[in-house]
Amino acid sequence: MASTRTNLTLAFVSALVAITVALGLTLWTVRNAALYRDVARYAATQADVASTLLIDAGQSSQSLIVGPDTSTEANVMTPRLRALLDAFPDYMVVMDRHGTPLYQSAAIRRLAPAEIDSLILKISDIPVDSAAVLPVTPVDELLVVARDLSTKTAAIGRVVVGVPTSRVTTLPRQYSIVLFFIAPLIIGLAAWWAWAALGLTSQRIGKITHDVAAITDGRSLHRRLSMENAGLEFEQLVETINDMIARLETSFLGLRRFTADASHELKTPLAVLRADVERAMSEPIPPAERLVALEEALHETTRMADLVESLLTLARADEGRFDIHREPVALKPLVQDIYETALILGEGAGVAVNFPFTADATVMGDPTRLRQLFLNLVTNAIKYTPPGGKVELGLGLHPDNVTFAVRDTGIGIAAADVPHIFERFWRADRARSRLSERGGFGLGLAISQWIAQAHGGTLTASSRLGRGSLFTVTLPLPAQQAQSAAQETPPVSSMPQESLTE
Ligand code: ADP
Repeated sequence: MASTRTNLTLAFVSALVAITVALGLTLWTVRNAALYRDVARYAATQADVASTLLIDAGQSSQSLIVGPDTSTEANVMTPRLRALLDAFPDYMVVMDRHGTPLYQSAAIRRLAPAEIDSLILKISDIPVDSAAVLPVTPVDELLVVARDLSTKTAAIGRVVVGVPTSRVTTLPRQYSIVLFFIAPLIIGLAAWWAWAALGLTSQRIGKITHDVAAITDGRSLHRRLSMENAGLEFEQLVETINDMIARLETSFLGLRRFTADASHELKTPLAVLRADVERAMSEPIPPAERLVALEEALHETTRMADLVESLLTLARADEGRFDIHREPVALKPLVQDIYETALILGEGAGVAVNFPFTADATVMGDPTRLRQLFLNLVTNAIKYTPPGGKVELGLGLHPDNVTFAVRDTGIGIAAADVPHIFERFWRADRARSRLSERGGFGLGLAISQWIAQAHGGTLTASSRLGRGSLFTVTLPLPAQQAQSAAQETPPVSSMPQESLTE
């Protein structure tokens, strides 16, 4: 299979040859038509001049004819007149009224007798005053013009002049030089230029291919293609490929970190589980101690099951395989239910939980997922609030959305950490969180954010270290409700307006 470079060069040269041939043919046709006109005019001029000469001679009462030629028995013209007519270079015949030749020009006299007869036969009755092209041996073609003198002189019938068309049909020297030397030279140069220019292009494509091929695996994703000598279009291509590699690098690094974090999170409970099982199986061991070991093993198994469940949720969310089964969900009963759970959790943790009265709103969503999202935020708030602290839930109705907010007076998050809290496996104090009571995996907020986004909403956080945090879920209202909310209800929020951003 020929290369693109060869194909493009061939296409370019073919187009050039076609254009040159078309141009040559057009020029040739136009030029021939003009030359035929010139030759016809030239023959007509010769015929007119000869006619004038003969008419003048007849009118000045000279005798045009000097009696029959002894050898041919035909009438001939006077020597003076013959000498005058011999000055015409082309084929000329002067005939008497009966069509018998009185004079033949020198060009005719040079032909063989048979050729003369055939020529005279052919031209004797061509129409007067119009040019005709006749095939004649040995000159190929004659452009013939005839003049009738029978009304103007007594002795002469017609004058016929023929000019060979070879003057027209012969390829002029300059034309042949252009056609056979200069045109091929220009086409050759253009082909070379196209080949060289396309060579540069294929060189650039080759370099890009080579650079891309060098990116063989995740470890070489830090490489970028060089912009040097890339040319305008290729600069754009290189830029696009570089952007794509950058995106791939980010995803790849994220995936690698995710896999490493997940393995790490599974490694510890597995080690604990193994140690517990070994302890429970070791002989001799008091039954009470065995029970403790088995309880711990059960706890670790539940923890691992939670982790695997969360990982599965995120993996499905990434794949877009998680269906959100939307139905109208009244938020007030849902939050009320969560508030009751929060009361029990808060009691255990010594944290006061509040849910002041608010207006109701209905959103289109998945009740199970929304419950998971709200409960995540509430359990986090209780988890990260020391005993004696407060957690407040609130529902706020706005013209085209509804907000669910959870505010706590807990440990808060450092300003530098706030942008990371939605990252997978991110925890403010990773080392301690496993050992402590709180002990999460750092996946809860990532899942919560996905649930909010899957409902067309957002989850935002503001926090101050040591002062507490505020997590806000914003969910869109269905169009109908949004309208009535805008008309009837002024924006309501039960949460204090004090900002927690530093
Ligand atoms: P975890 O299971 O560790 O709680 P999350 O994804 O729910 O995982 O939270 C990620 C991290 O964000 C937590 O480890 C914690 O450091 C911080 N965080 C979340 N909610 C709060 C809060 N209400 N107050 C303080 N820190 C919080």
